[in-house]
Amino acid sequence: MAPRIPFDNTYARLPERFFARQSPIPVAAPRLIRLNHALAADLGIDPAALTADVLAGNTVPEGAEPLAQAYAGHQFGHFTPRLGDGRAILLGEVIGRDGQRRDIQLKGSGATPFSRHADGRAALGPVLREFIISEAMAAFGVPTTRSLAVVTTGEEVMRETPLPGGVLTRIAASHIRVGTFQFFASRGDAEAVQILLDHAIARHDPEAAAAERPALAFFRGVVARQATLVARWLGLGFIHGVMNTDNMAVSGETIDYGPCAFLDAYDPATVFSSIDHAGRYAYANQPRIAQWNLARLAETLLPLMAEGEDAAMQAAQAALMEFGPIFQTAWLAEMRGKFGFAGVQEDDPSLIQDLLSRMAANEADFTLTFRALSTDPAAARTLFADPAAYAGFAEAWSARRAQGALDPEAMRDINPAFIPRNHLVEEAIAAAVTSVDFTVFDTLVDVLSRPFQDQPDHPRHALPPKPEERVLQTFCGT
Ligand code: AMP
Ligand code: MG
Repeated sequence: MAPRIPFDNTYARLPERFFARQSPIPVAAPRLIRLNHALAADLGIDPAALTADVLAGNTVPEGAEPLAQAYAGHQFGHFTPRLGDGRAILLGEVIGRDGQRRDIQLKGSGATPFSRHADGRAALGPVLREFIISEAMAAFGVPTTRSLAVVTTGEEVMRETPLPGGVLTRIAASHIRVGTFQFFASRGDAEAVQILLDHAIARHDPEAAAAERPALAFFRGVVARQATLVARWLGLGFIHGVMNTDNMAVSGETIDYGPCAFLDAYDPATVFSSIDHAGRYAYANQPRIAQWNLARLAETLLPLMAEGEDAAMQAAQAALMEFGPIFQTAWLAEMRGKFGFAGVQEDDPSLIQDLLSRMAANEADFTLTFRALSTDPAAARTLFADPAAYAGFAEAWSARRAQGALDPEAMRDINPAFIPRNHLVEEAIAAAVTSVDFTVFDTLVDVLSRPFQDQPDHPRHALPPKPEERVLQTFCGT
C-alpha cells in the first residue's frame, strides 16, 4: 500500500464559511530541496509519504481535505476585512508523537478564492528564508511554526523580475490568527466567533473550557503566550518585521516569517523591513505592538468576556493589562540568564539597561557580546567601538555575579554562538536562486540546528557582516 499521512482533521469539520475548499494548483516540475526528517519523525509521518509531488501540491495525499482559511487583519494599523490564505493550503492535521495536533500547510501552492489578483505563489528566496529562520527559532527553543520541507516548482514567478518558485511545507500548532477572530467579529457573526473560540480552546487552552468565562480565560492565555514570546524575541535580537494582526497566532507560535531579521549591532530602533517606513515594527516596539494586536483580539471576544458591556470592558482591560507585568518578568528572566545572573538583585534592571545603552552607543554586536560574556568576558571589550565603554560595565558585572552567577556552560545554553544573520541568509538565497546551488543553504541550516555549540569548522557563520556585506533592508517577497 502507498505510504500515507495519518490525517486527523478538525478545521475542515467547521462550518463552510470558515474557509474555501481548494486544492493546491499543480506545478511544472517539483524538486525536493530539503526534507526535515527529524520533524517528520516527530509528527509520525513516514518520510516516504513526503514526495516532491506531495510537497508541491501535485499529488493530494489520501485523507487530506485541502482548504484555504478565511481571516481578516489590521495591516500597519489599517483593517482589511477579508484577507485569507491567498497562497496557502491547509492539507489537514496530524497528531504528533507528543500527542499534539498540528497543521500541515503548503505555502506557495497556487491561487485560492482569497488571492485577490495575486498569483498564489511564493518565490524561492522567501521560502528558503522562512525555512532557515523558523528552524533556527525552533533550535533556540522559541515557540514557532516549523518547516517540514522546501521544494522548487520548476516554474517562474513574476515579481520585479522573474524568480524561481518554491513551496514551503509549514507545520503549526494551528493557523488561527488574531485576524481569524476579526474576520467573523467584523461581520457581526457572533455564532462563528463562538465556534472558533471553542475550536481554539480545544487546541490551545483546553483548561479554559472549564473556566467561568472561557473567552476570558482563553484571552488571558493568549496574552501570556504573546508576552513571553516577544520577550524571547528580544532576548535573541529578533525582529518579526510585519506584526500585523493576521500574522499573530493565538497559539503563541511565531508565524509568517517575511522581512524578519536579527540584529547584528545592538540598536533598539532597528527596522529592516522595506515596507515599514514609520518603524511601527521596530525591534523595541514589538511588545507595544503585540499588546495593540491583543486589544484587537479582545474586541472580537468582548461580548463573551462578561455579562454586560461595562463588565466585559473591565474584564478585557484587566486581562490586557496583564501583558506588561508578564512581559517584564519574562524579559528580566531572559536578560538575567543572558548576563549570567543567578537569583534576583534589585539593581539588575539598571545594570542590564546600562550594558544595553553602552552596546547601542558602541555598535556592539548583540549576539557576540553575550556569547563573549559566556566564554571569554575579557574579549567582550573588543566588540565595543570604544573598549573603555565595556570596561566601565565589567566591574559592576563582576560584583553582581559575586552575589549569584550562572556557570559559563549554563550561559552558553542561553546565549547562542550562531544566529541566522541576514547576510548569511541572503548569501544562501543568492546561491540557490542565481546558481541553483543549495549547499550554502544546507550548511547554514545545519550550523543553525546547533546554535549554542561552538563549531570551530564554521568560524565565518559566527561573525557579523563586514561593512560591505551588511544587509540594510529585507523584503516580504510576496
Ligand atoms: P503576508 O504579507 O504574507 O502575511 O500576506 C498578507 C495577505 O496577502 C495574505 O492574505 C496572503 O495570503 C496574501 N498574499 C501574499 N502574497 C500573495 C500571493 N503571491 N498570492 C496571493 N495572495 C498573497
Ligand atoms: Mg501573513
